[in-house]
Amino acid sequence: MRTTGFRSMVLYILLAAFLGGLGYLLVNLFLNGGKWAMQPYNGHISGETSTVKLGDITDRDGSLLATTQDGTRLYSQDETVRRALLHTVGDPYGYISTSIQSTMSSKLSGYNIVTGLNNTFFNRLGSDIALTVDQDACAAAYNALGGKNGGVIVYNYQTGDILCKVSTPTFDPENIPEDLETNDAYKGAYLDNTLSSSFTPGSIFKIVTAAAAMERWPDSWSTITYSCSGSVELAGSDITCLHGNAHGTQDMAAALGNSCNVYFAQLANDLGAEALQAKAKEMGFNVSFDLNGISTMESTIDLAGANANQLGWAGVGQYTLLANPYHMMCLMGAIANGGEYVQPRLTQGADLLGEITGGSRQLVSSGEASQLKELLRSNVEYYYGDYLFPDGMNVCAKTGTGEVGEDKGPNCWMVGFCDSTVYPYAFAVVVEDGSGGIESAGSVVSAVLSALA
Ligand SMILES: [Zn+2]
Repeated sequence: MRTTGFRSMVLYILLAAFLGGLGYLLVNLFLNGGKWAMQPYNGHISGETSTVKLGDITDRDGSLLATTQDGTRLYSQDETVRRALLHTVGDPYGYISTSIQSTMSSKLSGYNIVTGLNNTFFNRLGSDIALTVDQDACAAAYNALGGKNGGVIVYNYQTGDILCKVSTPTFDPENIPEDLETNDAYKGAYLDNTLSSSFTPGSIFKIVTAAAAMERWPDSWSTITYSCSGSVELAGSDITCLHGNAHGTQDMAAALGNSCNVYFAQLANDLGAEALQAKAKEMGFNVSFDLNGISTMESTIDLAGANANQLGWAGVGQYTLLANPYHMMCLMGAIANGGEYVQPRLTQGADLLGEITGGSRQLVSSGEASQLKELLRSNVEYYYGDYLFPDGMNVCAKTGTGEVGEDKGPNCWMVGFCDSTVYPYAFAVVVEDGSGGIESAGSVVSAVLSALA
C-alpha cells in the first residue's frame, strides 16, 4: 500500500510538472509567437527570397510606400520618397529596428496564433498598414536637408498624426549600397535621429529656463531685466553672446528674440540649479517618451555639482545638456495645446495608441503655455520674419545652435508650432554641422510647412 501511494504521488508530481510546462509554453507562444516567428534569422521572412507575403504600407493619402510582388519587397517608385521614409517604413533586412517593417512585422505578415505564418485565408486579413505620414512633406524635408545629417519631425498636435519623420544619413532600401558598413557617410544610418538620438540643444533650451522663471515669479517674470555687454563673468570665466554682441538692457521677450546668453545665464543662476533641473524634468527631460510602442531616447540634464559658470551655460542649453527631437516636438505640441500634449501616432486606426511611459502629458501649466506661446510668436513676428513661412500659419518658434566643439559646425535647431486651427502643426528640426538656426533649420521648417500647406 505504501509503495503504491508513493508511486502515485510521483506520477501526480510528474503530471503537474508536465501540465505546468505545457501551460508555460502555450502562454509564451500566445504572447510572443509573433515576435519569435518574425525574428530576422527566420529565412522565410528576411532577405530577398522571403516566402511570406508582407502587406502593403501606404502614406496618409494611400500612396504606396512598400508592397510585395512575386516574393520581392518593393518600395515607393520615387527614390527621394524611399530615402526620406527609410527610417519610418524600413528596409528588407531589418537594419532599421525602429521602422514599421521591424516593429509591426507580425501584423504585416498576417501572423496569427492558429496558422502561424502559413499562407492561409487568415494571413490575408489585416496585413496592410496605413501610416499617418505625408510622403510629399517627407520628400520636401529630405531635399531641404541638402545632404546634411539630422532629423525632421512634424505632427498634428490636435489629432496626434505624425505628418513628417525624416532622418539622415539614409540610403535607398531598393539599392542598398555595398559600402554601407564601411563608408563613413553612412555612419549612424541605422538610427532614426528623430527617435533614437539626442543633440546639444543650445538656445532652444532657453524656453525651459524661461518657463522656470514664469513658475518662480508668476506676476513679475516679464519685468525681470538684465544688462548685456556681450559677456558676463561667472565663477572665473566668461559666458559670451554670439559674436560678442552687446544687447544692452533687456526684458525676457527681447532676450529670447536676440537669443541673449548673458540674460539667460544670469537668470539660470538666480533660479538655482535645483529649480532649473526640476522644471526641465517636469517638461520632459530625463523621461522617455513613446511612439507606437517604441521608447524614445531621453533628453538629459544633470546639474548636480555644477558651478555658477556651468549653470549659466546650462541655462542657454550648453554644458552637458542633450535634447531628443521627438521630445522637443511633444513639448511644442504641449505649449500649443494649453500645456498638455496629444499622444503622437504613426499608424492610422485606434489599435496602437501609445502609452504614457513616464510622467504625465502635462508638460507646462496652461498659464505658462499661453505666456510661452506669446514669446515664441514674438520671436517670429519681430526677429525671424513671417515671410519665411506660408501665409496665415502664425508660426511660433525658437532657433538654437548647439556648439559641439572640435572642427564641426553647430547643431542647428528650430522648434515650434503654428498657432492655427487650420494648420495645427508642431515641429522639431535639427541639422548637424550647420551654419545657423535660421539658415540651416529654418529653411527646412519652411520647406516642410510649405509642402503641408
Ligand atoms: Zn546678450
